[in-house]
Amino acid sequence: MDLRPTAEQDLLRQTVREFAEAEIRPHVREWDEAQAFSLDLVPRLAALGLMGIQVPEAYGGAGLSAVEYCVCIEELARVDPSVALSVAAHNGLAAAHLLMFGSETQKQKYLVPLAKGEVIGAWGLTEASAGSDAGAMRTTAKRDSEDWIISGTKQFITHGKIGGTLVVMAVTDRSKGRHGVSAFVLDRATPGLSAGRKEDKLGMRASDTSEVILNACRVPAEAMVGGEGEGFVNTMQVLDAGRIGIAALAVGLAQGAYEAASKYARDRRQFGQPIAHFQAIRWKLADMATRIEAARLLTYRAAWLRDQHVERISTASSIAKLYSSEIAVRAAEECVQIHGGYGFVKDYAAEKFFRDVKLCTIGEGTSEIQRLVIARQLLGR
Ligand SMILES: Cc1cc2nc3c(=O)[nH]c(=O)nc-3n(C[C@H](O)[C@H](O)[C@H](O)COP(=O)(O)OP(=O)(O)OC[C@H]3O[C@@H](n4cnc5c(N)ncnc54)[C@H](O)[C@@H]3O)c2cc1C
Repeated sequence: MDLRPTAEQDLLRQTVREFAEAEIRPHVREWDEAQAFSLDLVPRLAALGLMGIQVPEAYGGAGLSAVEYCVCIEELARVDPSVALSVAAHNGLAAAHLLMFGSETQKQKYLVPLAKGEVIGAWGLTEASAGSDAGAMRTTAKRDSEDWIISGTKQFITHGKIGGTLVVMAVTDRSKGRHGVSAFVLDRATPGLSAGRKEDKLGMRASDTSEVILNACRVPAEAMVGGEGEGFVNTMQVLDAGRIGIAALAVGLAQGAYEAASKYARDRRQFGQPIAHFQAIRWKLADMATRIEAARLLTYRAAWLRDQHVERISTASSIAKLYSSEIAVRAAEECVQIHGGYGFVKDYAAEKFFRDVKLCTIGEGTSEIQRLVIARQLLGR
């Protein structure tokens, strides 16, 4: 066992941290207020390899490991969790699905432009009446000679408006239940494909979240990703890995909140001394740092297991996601508390961490669903 990062991983962290400080931090508030993901940022993310983090170099990506993916997402989230969410959805859902299950032709046509940052990816599983119970989806794909006709509406899709390549799940044979769901890759230009309502969100406002409307979209047989009926099972594997990314996002967010709180506690004076001298504040900071370290270890362990390809990672990734997102909620709340009234206004980062963090216990499976996955592994059924 060696828990130390390699020299390359330290350098990667430093590089992404410097990028986030220089290119993202100055715009955090402006992007949050505009509720827009900055398209200008994409080429700069791509130049660092952040649009194809785990995609092999042969497909235009950076070819990094799952552990290194966590380093990147963590460092982005430390500064702006909504940029980290967009990068995680692009990499960990859309690109990952094509990398894991796409054909060679699909990889050349869709994965390469995603990894190079020429196109933004979106991934559509959720629907208005099918969230945690994704298997209850209503979107259908019906055969029409060699083609498929896809109809339905996807809800809460990251990059639903700005994504150029979309991977969507649809029922191809309802009688087979979860084994009757298939995945398809679509171009934004597909006739019948449009974005619906853009969500006006509590947090993560700089990340586009929109409906995706599929109005009898005709796609060729080659648009199917993976085998017919394999879409749901493949989706669960994509989410197993994707959840590690959300865990890393939560760790980075919590780290950002901790650092903001720690700095404020040393600067802010009450009763003639910095509030960091009061035991009540010191213990909050000590607890935050301890929980963050534990969450980071769980997250890196899950990522390391993924890199070893030795076992199913569902439980490890659910444990990492559950713990990291819940301690991040506590960290963001304590950050506001340590800022007092200044934590409640937009002059400081605290209120934004507090708004952004809640997504971590909801996206890519709620905390309740993570407990369900973990308990199923422990208890069976
Ligand atoms: C900002 C944002 C971005 C997103 N991006 C994407 C995306 O890119 N692609 C995509 O497909 N989806 C995306 N989602 C959707 C997200 O994955 C779902 O919101 C999430 O899975 C929960 O589904 P739901 O909102 O329908 O809640 P529901 O499933 O309706 O859950 C409501 C409540 O009931 C609880 N619950 C449900 N079932 C159970 C159960 N069996 N046992 C115990 N409790 C239960 C839940 O935990 C929750 O507390 C995004 C969501 C948000 C907010």
